[in-house]
Amino acid sequence: MQLTGRVASHIVEVPELRCTVHAAAAAALLAMATAAREQGIELIIVSSFRSFQRQAAIWNGKYRGERALLDRTGRALERAGLDEQASVDAILLWSALRGGRRHHWGTDVDIVDRAAGPEGYRPQLTAAEFAARGVFAKLDSWLVANMSRFGFFRPYSRDLGGVLPEPWHLSYAPVAVPALESLTVEVLAEAIAGSGLCGRELVLARLPEIHARYVKAVDAPAG
Ligand SMILES: [Zn+2]
Repeated sequence: MQLTGRVASHIVEVPELRCTVHAAAAAALLAMATAAREQGIELIIVSSFRSFQRQAAIWNGKYRGERALLDRTGRALERAGLDEQASVDAILLWSALRGGRRHHWGTDVDIVDRAAGPEGYRPQLTAAEFAARGVFAKLDSWLVANMSRFGFFRPYSRDLGGVLPEPWHLSYAPVAVPALESLTVEVLAEAIAGSGLCGRELVLARLPEIHARYVKAVDAPAG
């Protein structure tokens, strides 16, 4: 139930960072934020724990056409030309599988640097922002040099054919590595079968492939 975000019994609030994370990750996240602050970087957690129920609502909104669907280059897809299978593919590409999402574990956070950029800058969460000349370039190099000291790594640092690169997405290895091992096709199937997810028959029929591509195809922690 914890692996698929159907309960929140593994989650605690971190008021200093205004987020909710796995109980075992909270101290490491606070320590990393403190160390970053000493270098003039103000870590802001833009996304942390997400429940299955909330993710399922987003999935269903996309499936029903109430939310935009994008292709690999970020262009909006024309709904009329999409069959159900293509819709499922487009949703998976950008939002991964509900229940199979690392944010359910509470080990994963999306972060930006509030001290970077002009006053009132609204983070877009794009790879360009974290590139050499991007607004979060300083944060990026600090993370590369320091995040592993606090147990964090980037599971989506490269395009491995599944989830697109997300340099803002960090994962707490001591809990996330065993969680990934435990989130088998069977565990995921059980969560999806019992949910109100639109298109769940399509997803269940392809679950081994989807699991390999969108859950397992991630980078491992360095070293
Ligand atoms: Zn994320």
